[in-house]
Amino acid sequence: MHIVVCVKMVPDTTQVKIDPETNTLIREGVPFITNPYDTNAVEEAIRFKDKYGAYVTAVSMGPPAAESVLRKATSIGADECILLSDRAFGGADTLATSTVLGLAIKKVHEKRPVDIVLCGKQTIDGDTAQVGPGIARRLDSTQLTLVDEMISVDEENNTIRVRRKLESYYEIIEAKMPVMITVEREINTPRYPTVPGRLDAAEAKVQVWDNNFLKLDPTTIGLMGSPTQVRRIFAPEREQGEVISGEGDQMQAAVDSAFSKLTEWDIVKVN
Ligand SMILES: Cc1cc2nc3c(=O)[nH]c(=O)nc-3n(C[C@H](O)[C@H](O)[C@H](O)COP(=O)(O)OP(=O)(O)OC[C@H]3O[C@@H](n4cnc5c(N)ncnc54)[C@H](O)[C@@H]3O)c2cc1C
Repeated sequence: MHIVVCVKMVPDTTQVKIDPETNTLIREGVPFITNPYDTNAVEEAIRFKDKYGAYVTAVSMGPPAAESVLRKATSIGADECILLSDRAFGGADTLATSTVLGLAIKKVHEKRPVDIVLCGKQTIDGDTAQVGPGIARRLDSTQLTLVDEMISVDEENNTIRVRRKLESYYEIIEAKMPVMITVEREINTPRYPTVPGRLDAAEAKVQVWDNNFLKLDPTTIGLMGSPTQVRRIFAPEREQGEVISGEGDQMQAAVDSAFSKLTEWDIVKVN
Protein backbone atom coordinates (compact mmCIF):
# COMPACT_ATOMS: atom_id res chain seq x y z
CA MET A 1 0.00 0.00 0.00
CA HIS A 2 1.26 3.47 -0.89
CA ILE A 3 -0.02 6.63 0.80
CA VAL A 4 0.71 10.15 -0.37
CA VAL A 5 0.13 12.74 2.33
CA CYS A 6 -0.17 16.45 1.46
CA VAL A 7 1.27 18.88 3.99
CA LYS A 8 1.20 22.64 3.82
CA MET A 9 3.38 25.13 5.69
CA VAL A 10 1.17 27.81 7.28
CA PRO A 11 1.74 30.86 9.51
CA ASP A 12 1.57 29.96 13.21
CA THR A 13 -1.53 31.98 13.88
CA THR A 14 -5.19 32.01 13.06
CA GLN A 15 -5.00 35.81 12.94
CA VAL A 16 -3.17 36.18 9.64
CA LYS A 17 -2.35 39.83 9.01
CA ILE A 18 -3.51 41.25 5.71
CA ASP A 19 -1.87 44.00 3.67
CA PRO A 20 -4.82 46.38 3.12
CA GLU A 21 -3.21 47.81 -0.04
CA THR A 22 -2.52 44.58 -1.88
CA ASN A 23 -5.06 42.29 -0.16
CA THR A 24 -2.36 39.65 0.30
CA LEU A 25 -1.20 37.80 3.39
CA ILE A 26 1.70 39.41 5.27
CA ARG A 27 4.10 36.55 5.87
CA GLU A 28 7.14 38.46 7.13
CA GLY A 29 8.01 37.95 10.79
CA VAL A 30 5.48 35.18 11.29
CA PRO A 31 6.70 31.76 12.46
CA PHE A 32 5.59 28.86 10.27
CA ILE A 33 4.27 25.43 11.26
CA THR A 34 2.72 22.38 9.64
CA ASN A 35 -0.98 23.03 9.05
CA PRO A 36 -2.55 21.39 12.17
CA TYR A 37 -4.99 19.24 10.16
CA ASP A 38 -2.03 17.94 8.14
CA THR A 39 -0.29 16.72 11.30
CA ASN A 40 -3.33 14.45 11.73
CA ALA A 41 -3.09 13.35 8.08
CA VAL A 42 0.60 12.46 8.54
CA GLU A 43 -0.15 10.61 11.79
CA GLU A 44 -2.88 8.61 10.05
CA ALA A 45 -0.49 7.71 7.22
CA ILE A 46 2.10 6.51 9.73
CA ARG A 47 -0.57 4.43 11.51
CA PHE A 48 -1.22 2.74 8.14
CA LYS A 49 2.51 2.15 7.89
CA ASP A 50 2.53 0.57 11.36
CA LYS A 51 -0.58 -1.54 10.67
CA TYR A 52 -0.37 -2.46 6.97
CA GLY A 53 3.28 -1.76 6.16
CA ALA A 54 2.28 1.18 3.92
CA TYR A 55 4.95 3.24 2.16
CA VAL A 56 4.43 6.94 2.92
CA THR A 57 5.35 9.82 0.61
CA ALA A 58 4.89 13.38 1.93
CA VAL A 59 4.36 16.17 -0.61
CA SER A 60 4.25 19.92 -0.11
CA MET A 61 4.00 22.84 -2.49
CA GLY A 62 5.61 25.98 -1.19
CA PRO A 63 8.77 28.06 -0.90
CA PRO A 64 12.14 26.37 -0.06
CA ALA A 65 11.40 26.86 3.68
CA ALA A 66 8.48 24.43 3.36
CA GLU A 67 11.14 21.71 3.47
CA SER A 68 10.78 21.95 7.27
CA VAL A 69 7.23 20.53 7.29
CA LEU A 70 8.42 17.62 5.14
CA ARG A 71 11.28 16.91 7.55
CA LYS A 72 8.73 16.87 10.39
CA ALA A 73 6.75 14.23 8.49
CA THR A 74 9.99 12.24 8.08
CA SER A 75 10.75 12.55 11.79
CA ILE A 76 7.69 10.45 12.62
CA GLY A 77 8.12 7.96 9.78
CA ALA A 78 7.43 9.26 6.24
CA ASP A 79 9.62 7.32 3.81
CA GLU A 80 10.00 9.90 1.05
CA CYS A 81 9.55 13.67 0.75
CA ILE A 82 8.89 15.83 -2.28
CA LEU A 83 8.87 19.63 -2.26
CA LEU A 84 7.14 21.28 -5.22
CA SER A 85 8.89 24.59 -5.40
CA ASP A 86 9.29 27.05 -8.22
CA ARG A 87 8.69 30.78 -8.60
CA ALA A 88 6.24 29.82 -11.33
CA PHE A 89 4.03 28.13 -8.69
CA GLY A 90 3.85 31.31 -6.53
CA GLY A 91 0.59 33.22 -6.02
CA ALA A 92 -1.47 30.11 -6.72
CA ASP A 93 -5.14 29.97 -5.76
CA THR A 94 -6.81 26.67 -4.90
CA LEU A 95 -7.30 25.76 -8.57
CA ALA A 96 -3.63 26.21 -9.49
CA THR A 97 -2.49 24.56 -6.23
CA SER A 98 -4.61 21.49 -7.00
CA THR A 99 -3.24 21.39 -10.56
CA VAL A 100 0.38 21.24 -9.37
CA LEU A 101 -0.28 18.79 -6.52
CA GLY A 102 -2.47 16.62 -8.78
CA LEU A 103 0.18 16.32 -11.49
CA ALA A 104 2.95 15.70 -8.97
CA ILE A 105 0.92 12.89 -7.41
CA LYS A 106 0.38 11.40 -10.89
CA LYS A 107 4.19 11.37 -11.33
CA VAL A 108 4.60 9.72 -7.92
CA HIS A 109 1.97 7.16 -8.98
CA GLU A 110 3.94 6.29 -12.14
CA LYS A 111 6.89 5.29 -9.94
CA ARG A 112 4.88 3.51 -7.24
CA PRO A 113 1.07 3.15 -7.58
CA VAL A 114 -0.77 5.29 -5.02
CA ASP A 115 -3.70 3.81 -3.07
CA ILE A 116 -4.61 6.69 -0.76
CA VAL A 117 -4.02 10.44 -0.92
CA LEU A 118 -4.44 11.99 2.53
CA CYS A 119 -5.07 15.70 3.07
CA GLY A 120 -6.14 17.81 6.01
CA LYS A 121 -9.78 18.90 5.98
CA GLN A 122 -8.63 22.50 5.52
CA THR A 123 -5.80 24.86 6.28
CA ILE A 124 -5.73 27.52 8.98
CA ASP A 125 -4.69 30.28 6.56
CA GLY A 126 -6.44 29.84 3.20
CA ASP A 127 -9.17 27.85 4.98
CA THR A 128 -11.05 26.90 1.82
CA ALA A 129 -11.10 23.07 2.08
CA GLN A 130 -10.98 23.00 -1.74
CA VAL A 131 -7.54 21.56 -2.45
CA GLY A 132 -8.25 17.93 -1.42
CA PRO A 133 -11.34 17.67 -3.67
CA GLY A 134 -9.40 19.52 -6.41
CA ILE A 135 -6.66 16.88 -6.27
CA ALA A 136 -9.25 14.06 -6.40
CA ARG A 137 -10.77 15.65 -9.52
CA ARG A 138 -7.38 15.76 -11.23
CA LEU A 139 -6.60 12.17 -10.29
CA ASP A 140 -10.11 11.10 -11.29
CA SER A 141 -10.39 9.28 -7.96
CA THR A 142 -13.11 8.89 -5.36
CA GLN A 143 -13.09 11.56 -2.66
CA LEU A 144 -14.02 10.96 0.97
CA THR A 145 -14.05 14.26 2.84
CA LEU A 146 -14.49 15.06 6.57
CA VAL A 147 -13.29 11.64 7.69
CA ASP A 148 -12.92 11.21 11.46
CA GLU A 149 -12.32 7.47 11.55
CA MET A 150 -10.63 4.93 9.29
CA ILE A 151 -12.68 1.87 10.09
CA SER A 152 -11.01 -0.85 8.03
CA VAL A 153 -9.12 -1.72 4.88
CA ASP A 154 -9.85 -4.84 2.84
CA GLU A 155 -6.56 -5.40 1.05
CA GLU A 156 -7.92 -8.36 -0.94
CA ASN A 157 -10.79 -6.40 -2.47
CA ASN A 158 -8.87 -3.12 -2.43
CA THR A 159 -11.56 -1.25 -0.49
CA ILE A 160 -11.53 1.10 2.46
CA ARG A 161 -14.30 1.81 4.98
CA VAL A 162 -14.39 5.19 6.74
CA ARG A 163 -16.66 7.32 8.91
CA ARG A 164 -17.52 10.85 7.73
CA LYS A 165 -18.52 13.46 10.28
CA LEU A 166 -21.42 15.45 8.88
CA GLU A 167 -23.36 18.27 10.51
CA SER A 168 -25.89 16.23 12.49
CA TYR A 169 -25.00 12.63 11.73
CA TYR A 170 -22.20 10.28 10.77
CA GLU A 171 -21.95 8.48 7.46
CA ILE A 172 -20.14 5.17 7.01
CA ILE A 173 -18.83 4.68 3.49
CA GLU A 174 -16.95 1.94 1.75
CA ALA A 175 -15.05 2.85 -1.41
CA LYS A 176 -12.70 1.23 -3.88
CA MET A 177 -9.15 2.50 -3.69
CA PRO A 178 -7.48 4.66 -4.93
CA VAL A 179 -9.20 7.36 -2.89
CA MET A 180 -8.50 10.90 -1.73
CA ILE A 181 -9.39 11.39 1.93
CA THR A 182 -9.52 14.63 3.93
CA VAL A 183 -9.26 14.21 7.69
CA GLU A 184 -10.81 15.87 10.71
CA ARG A 185 -8.69 16.68 13.76
CA GLU A 186 -10.58 14.14 15.90
CA ILE A 187 -9.25 11.26 13.82
CA ASN A 188 -6.15 10.83 16.01
CA THR A 189 -3.65 12.42 18.35
CA PRO A 190 -0.40 13.02 16.50
CA ARG A 191 2.65 11.44 18.09
CA TYR A 192 5.81 13.33 19.02
CA PRO A 193 8.94 12.51 17.06
CA THR A 194 11.60 10.55 18.90
CA VAL A 195 15.16 11.88 19.16
CA PRO A 196 16.47 9.32 16.59
CA GLY A 197 13.51 10.28 14.37
CA ARG A 198 14.54 13.95 14.53
CA LEU A 199 18.15 13.10 13.76
CA ASP A 200 17.16 10.97 10.75
CA ALA A 201 14.85 13.75 9.54
CA ALA A 202 17.64 16.32 9.70
CA GLU A 203 19.64 14.21 7.25
CA ALA A 204 16.77 12.98 5.09
CA LYS A 205 16.84 13.81 1.40
CA VAL A 206 14.05 16.13 0.28
CA GLN A 207 13.52 15.94 -3.48
CA VAL A 208 12.70 19.30 -5.05
CA TRP A 209 10.53 19.24 -8.16
CA ASP A 210 10.23 22.44 -10.16
CA ASN A 211 8.33 23.17 -13.34
CA ASN A 212 11.27 22.13 -15.52
CA PHE A 213 10.53 18.69 -14.15
CA LEU A 214 6.70 18.83 -14.03
CA LYS A 215 6.42 20.66 -17.37
CA LEU A 216 3.01 22.15 -16.63
CA ASP A 217 1.61 24.77 -18.99
CA PRO A 218 2.62 28.09 -17.32
CA THR A 219 -0.88 29.50 -17.92
CA THR A 220 -2.36 26.80 -15.62
CA ILE A 221 -0.11 27.41 -12.59
CA GLY A 222 0.86 30.19 -10.18
CA LEU A 223 -0.65 33.63 -10.61
CA MET A 224 -1.41 33.10 -14.31
CA GLY A 225 -3.39 29.94 -13.60
CA SER A 226 -5.35 31.50 -10.74
CA PRO A 227 -8.70 32.97 -11.77
CA THR A 228 -9.62 33.84 -8.13
CA GLN A 229 -9.81 37.59 -7.67
CA VAL A 230 -9.55 38.77 -4.08
CA ARG A 231 -11.52 42.03 -3.91
CA ARG A 232 -11.16 42.58 -0.17
CA ILE A 233 -9.83 40.53 2.67
CA PHE A 234 -10.21 41.42 6.34
CA ALA A 235 -10.35 40.01 9.85
CA PRO A 236 -13.89 40.20 11.30
CA GLU A 237 -14.25 42.92 13.91
CA ARG A 238 -14.72 41.64 17.44
CA GLU A 239 -17.39 43.28 19.56
CA GLN A 240 -15.94 44.40 22.87
CA GLY A 241 -18.09 43.10 25.74
CA GLU A 242 -18.78 45.23 28.81
CA VAL A 243 -16.85 44.33 31.93
CA ILE A 244 -18.70 45.03 35.19
CA SER A 245 -16.35 44.74 38.13
CA GLY A 246 -16.62 45.29 41.83
CA GLU A 247 -14.92 43.91 44.88
CA GLY A 248 -15.80 44.02 48.58
CA ASP A 249 -18.53 46.62 49.18
CA GLN A 250 -18.94 47.17 45.45
CA MET A 251 -19.69 43.53 44.66
CA GLN A 252 -23.45 43.67 45.31
CA ALA A 253 -23.79 46.80 43.18
CA ALA A 254 -21.89 45.07 40.34
CA VAL A 255 -24.14 42.01 40.55
CA ASP A 256 -27.27 44.23 40.55
CA SER A 257 -25.98 46.15 37.55
CA ALA A 258 -25.20 42.96 35.61
CA PHE A 259 -28.59 41.52 36.53
CA SER A 260 -30.50 44.60 35.45
CA LYS A 261 -28.68 44.61 32.08
CA LEU A 262 -29.54 40.95 31.56
CA THR A 263 -33.24 41.60 32.27
CA GLU A 264 -33.16 44.74 30.11
CA TRP A 265 -31.77 42.67 27.17
CA ASP A 266 -34.39 40.01 27.86
CA ILE A 267 -31.75 37.39 28.64
CA VAL A 268 -33.08 36.87 32.18
CA LYS A 269 -36.79 37.04 33.05
CA VAL A 270 -37.98 37.99 36.57
CA ASN A 271 -41.36 36.59 37.60
C1 LIG B 1 -8.59 34.94 -0.18
C2 LIG B 1 -7.27 34.27 -0.32
C3 LIG B 1 -6.11 34.99 -0.54
C4 LIG B 1 -4.87 34.36 -0.66
N1 LIG B 1 -3.76 35.10 -0.88
C5 LIG B 1 -2.57 34.48 -1.03
C6 LIG B 1 -1.38 35.22 -1.25
O1 LIG B 1 -1.42 36.41 -1.33
N2 LIG B 1 -0.20 34.54 -1.38
C7 LIG B 1 -0.16 33.19 -1.27
O2 LIG B 1 0.91 32.61 -1.40
N3 LIG B 1 -1.26 32.47 -1.02
C8 LIG B 1 -2.45 33.08 -0.90
N4 LIG B 1 -3.57 32.37 -0.66
C9 LIG B 1 -3.41 30.96 -0.38
C10 LIG B 1 -3.52 30.02 -1.53
O3 LIG B 1 -4.61 30.25 -2.34
C11 LIG B 1 -3.61 28.71 -0.83
O4 LIG B 1 -2.39 28.53 -0.17
C12 LIG B 1 -3.75 27.48 -1.65
O5 LIG B 1 -4.52 27.59 -2.77
C13 LIG B 1 -4.31 26.36 -0.77
O6 LIG B 1 -5.61 26.67 -0.36
P1 LIG B 1 -6.05 26.53 1.14
O7 LIG B 1 -4.96 27.06 1.99
O8 LIG B 1 -7.41 27.09 1.25
O9 LIG B 1 -6.07 24.94 1.31
P2 LIG B 1 -7.27 23.96 1.74
O10 LIG B 1 -8.05 23.62 0.54
O11 LIG B 1 -8.00 24.47 2.94
O12 LIG B 1 -6.35 22.74 2.15
C14 LIG B 1 -6.84 21.41 2.33
C15 LIG B 1 -5.68 20.47 2.36
O13 LIG B 1 -5.03 20.44 1.08
C16 LIG B 1 -3.63 20.24 1.25
N5 LIG B 1 -2.90 21.41 0.75
C17 LIG B 1 -3.34 22.65 0.54
N6 LIG B 1 -2.36 23.44 0.07
C18 LIG B 1 -1.25 22.66 0.00
C19 LIG B 1 0.11 22.88 -0.38
N7 LIG B 1 0.54 24.07 -0.80
N8 LIG B 1 0.97 21.84 -0.33
C20 LIG B 1 0.56 20.62 0.10
N9 LIG B 1 -0.70 20.36 0.49
C21 LIG B 1 -1.59 21.35 0.44
C22 LIG B 1 -3.39 20.06 2.75
O14 LIG B 1 -3.47 18.70 3.07
C23 LIG B 1 -4.58 20.82 3.35
O15 LIG B 1 -4.91 20.41 4.65
C24 LIG B 1 -4.81 32.97 -0.54
C25 LIG B 1 -5.98 32.24 -0.31
C26 LIG B 1 -7.20 32.87 -0.20
C27 LIG B 1 -8.45 32.06 0.04
